[in-house]
Amino acid sequence: MTKIDILVALRHRPTLAGLVVPWITAHMPDGRYRFGAIDAQRLGASLRDHRCQICGEPTFRPFVFAMRDVDLPRLIAPEPPMHPECAHYSATACPMLAGTMTRYRSEQQTNGEASGDPRNARPGHAAHTWYLVWTTDYTPFLDPQTRQPAARIALGDILRIRPIRR
Ligand SMILES: [Zn+2]
Repeated sequence: MTKIDILVALRHRPTLAGLVVPWITAHMPDGRYRFGAIDAQRLGASLRDHRCQICGEPTFRPFVFAMRDVDLPRLIAPEPPMHPECAHYSATACPMLAGTMTRYRSEQQTNGEASGDPRNARPGHAAHTWYLVWTTDYTPFLDPQTRQPAARIALGDILRIRPIRR
């Protein structure tokens, strides 16, 4: 497993197995963190108060969102914004996002033929391409489809879209 350098900006965050625990990650009453589970209050606060979901600090433009291919046409980001640096760290280190990249690499090694499902590559995520989307602004709102807090992005506010899988 590759060791990921932790950004200076993230050094104050607790780590689990060498990975930074994002600010919005839920923790249980005994203090342990649950990777992949979201603290609903912090999710709402991150979207509403423009706080980075990874480090918890205020974000300013450009905001960076991780969005799946299915989120892009709707211009709705189900995840709160990130700093560009935190987004880069997350795309490199986050098991959810990096899992798809692991799968991609193993496919490359077998000349494009899928070599089964490597560990940590969750089927639900393998089906989606993830993008990092830079925006100048967003509007927090309640996604009518999921009834979850989300970020609505105006087409004119998008600065850059980059697939996380090359
Ligand atoms: Zn951050």
